[in-house]
Order: sequence, then structure tokens, then C-alpha cells
Amino acid sequence: MTDINTIISLCKRRGFIFPGSEIYGGLANSWDYGPLGVELKNNIKQLWWRRFVHERDDMVGIDAALIMNPKVWEASGHLKEFSDPLVECKECHSRFRADQLTENKCPNCGGEFTQPKQFNLMLKTYLGPAEEKANEVYFRPETAQAMFVDFKNVADSMRKRLPFGIAQIGKAFRNEITPGNFIFRMREFEQMEIEYFVREEDWQKYFDHWLGEMRSWLKELGVGDARIHEAEIPDGDRAHYSKRTVDFEYEYPFGQKELYGLAYRTNFDLKNHFPDGAPYRDPESGEEFWPHVIEPTWGVDRSVLVTLLEAYQEDTEKKRVYLKLPPKLAPYKVAVFPLLANKPDLVAKAREIYDTLRKKFPVAWDDRGNVGKRYYAQDEIGTPWCITVDFQSLEDSTVTVRDRDTGEQVRVSVADLDPFISERLV
Ligand code: ATP
Repeated sequence: MTDINTIISLCKRRGFIFPGSEIYGGLANSWDYGPLGVELKNNIKQLWWRRFVHERDDMVGIDAALIMNPKVWEASGHLKEFSDPLVECKECHSRFRADQLTENKCPNCGGEFTQPKQFNLMLKTYLGPAEEKANEVYFRPETAQAMFVDFKNVADSMRKRLPFGIAQIGKAFRNEITPGNFIFRMREFEQMEIEYFVREEDWQKYFDHWLGEMRSWLKELGVGDARIHEAEIPDGDRAHYSKRTVDFEYEYPFGQKELYGLAYRTNFDLKNHFPDGAPYRDPESGEEFWPHVIEPTWGVDRSVLVTLLEAYQEDTEKKRVYLKLPPKLAPYKVAVFPLLANKPDLVAKAREIYDTLRKKFPVAWDDRGNVGKRYYAQDEIGTPWCITVDFQSLEDSTVTVRDRDTGEQVRVSVADLDPFISERLV
């Protein structure tokens, strides 16, 4: 399995992900997505939105405020329950999550631990100029609550009937005790979540439906079954709101850990947010009730991480590294090169192709060094096809198109480039 440091260094060298605030010595486990990282991340988010919102007629999206009324977190149970057990080493004062330790002594210095105490993970701040209790607010620790709080507004304005879902992509914040492992666990991260509202008697059916959807989503990212494990979370270990949870775990280079989760949240949240009356009325029977909820949740950053881990390939024979990204996720779909940078005719022809294709796809341009070096650079960032304009191009308006994975080249007419690429992006 690929060493995580290999991925971290490729990400930095090739503009995917940089350490946050690096020139100031960094900020504990914060990471910035660079020019190629933001493309990859956006492609994942757009694919998700298209698949789960646009292609379905039982789904709508929202984009809610990051900071919500603190009463939201009281009603949801987060103020009371959203905590991890924290222990501190009596010698070196390092802090750890008690449930993640395998031994009862400090991994840094062997010292003894304090008794565990519950540490609330919500990130606090103040709204308004006075830093006093009345102005205390929290950055949301999950995107989910907005779908419950906005449920009635969405159901009424969109005239949605059960079953239907509300989707959201956005940032969440958790004051994690032990962030780390690159973008696996950060204090600021992104989630893609769906709250899918059903009648109580249908929950099992839709739980199974979403299990299937989550499995097929992984295929879209190019993640095979080999490193995925589905874990049924037993009674006692589930979040306070859940009656059934299945975690999708992945074998990361640093161990098997959570990637995504699927939970049956019952009507716990809607009951707590709408205590005075049911927020849903069946248009036919007139019956009023609190719908039950199936919640599939996906971490965006963990999606980026597994996509990169699965795509990373070392071709020892050809001495190259390439990212075998599904073409629809690749930051650039294609790169265009003039065979020689000092031949104005070749450069002009290549520029013309580059400018035309750029209107439709993200396209890279490279005229440095030799073609071999340019292939090498494009392979490392996962560009599926490289187009080279050579002397024959000037005569018959064809170019070579080289395939990232096989290294094979075919001649394609310039007029056919657009369909050639489009067909392969589905
Ligand atoms: P973990 O057990 O790893 O702390 P969790 O069970 O608390 O995760 P959820 O509350 O189910 O996580 O959050 C939903 C998804 O959000 C997770 O499956 C994961 O993909 C992502 N996620 C959660 N915490 C973080 C984090 N600190 N950094 C990056 N992604 C995260």
C-alpha cells in the first residue's frame, strides 16, 4: 500500500494540497487545497450533486448558514452528547482520545493518564462585539441539522411528498482532540449529506436503498471493493440519535478507519426541532406526523483522500508515476503540447486547439522541455490524454493523442477531438 507521505509529497509538489499557513509554521493539521486539489474536490462534489440531486426527482438541495442559533444544538443533543473522552498524560501533558488508545500509557513518554473526561467537540465563537455568554455560538459540527431545521420550509415551498430527501454540501467544524493523518481528520472539513425522509414503516427499505447507492458511489470514485469494509455498529457504540448505523471503512495506510456512514436517525431530530406540532401533513389523508430519517453521509476530504490513494500507480517498467483517476474526476481532461516550442507554426496550431478545447474542458498547456518530460508531469496529475501537435498536423490537421494509462498513441483529426474527449468522460 502506498505510503501516506508519498501522497502528501505528490500533493504538495503538484499543486493539489498544501499545509495550511505554511509560511507561518503551519496551523495544526490544517490543509489548503491548491489549484489542482480544488478541481479534483469540486469534480467530486459536482458528481455527487448531479447523481443525488439533479438526476433524482425525490431530492432537493439547500445551502444553510454555518453558524446557527445555539438552540439548534440544544435540541439536537449536541451540546450534551457531542463529545469524545479525553485523557491527558500526567508527565508530558499530551492529550489523547481515550477510545483510540490501545495501551493505558502515553505513547509519547510512557507516562500515566488522568481519568477520562468528556470534551465537547463543538467549536465556539462569539457573534457581535461582546465576548459574553449571551453571544456564544457554535460553528456547525455537521451539516445535517440545517436539513431538519429547514424541513418545513422545504416541504412547504417545494410541495414535496414522502419519501424525499434534502441534500447539502458544506463545511463542518469539530475541535478534534487528535486531528491528523493528512486530510483524514481535520478540525475544519467538508461533508456531503442527505437526510432522506420516509414513513416509519418504510425505513428498512430505504436504508437498504441507500446502502446500495453508497456502494455504487464508490465505483464512481474508482474505489474497488478490496479495501472497503462495511461495519454494522452495535448497540451502545452508535451516536445518540441512531437506531441502526453502518460505517463504510477503508484500509488507509494508517489503518482501517471510517470513510462514510449510513444511519437511521428515526424521527429524533424532527421531534426535537418541532415539539409543538408535526411538520409534515400528508396531502391525501391529511394525517400529520414527524417523518423518519435515513442519513447517508460522505466526507468530502476523505473522498479526495481515497480517490488519490486508489489512483496512485507506480509503473516500475516505464519508471513513471501516474494517477489513474476516472477521467471525469481528473483536474485537467487533456493537455496540449506543440512538439517543439521554438517552431512558431507548431505553437500557433497547438494554441488554436488549446483555445478551442478550453471553452469546453479544463485543459493544460505545456511547451517546456521534451515531450517525454511533459507526459511524465501530466501522468503525475492524472491528465487522461495528451495531445501533441507535430509537423504532420500542419499538413493534415491530425494530432497524436496519448493515453495516460496505456501510454499508447493514436492519430485523431482535430475536428474529432471534442467528441473523442466527451465520449470518454461519461
Ligand atoms: P470518526 O469516527 O472518524 O470521528 P464520525 O463517526 O464522528 O467520524 P460522522 O459524524 O459520521 O463522523 O461524520 C460524517 C462524515 O464526515 C464521516 O464519515 C467522515 O467522512 C467525515 N468526517 C468526520 N469527521 C471528520 C474530520 N474531523 N475530518 C475530516 N472528515 C471528517
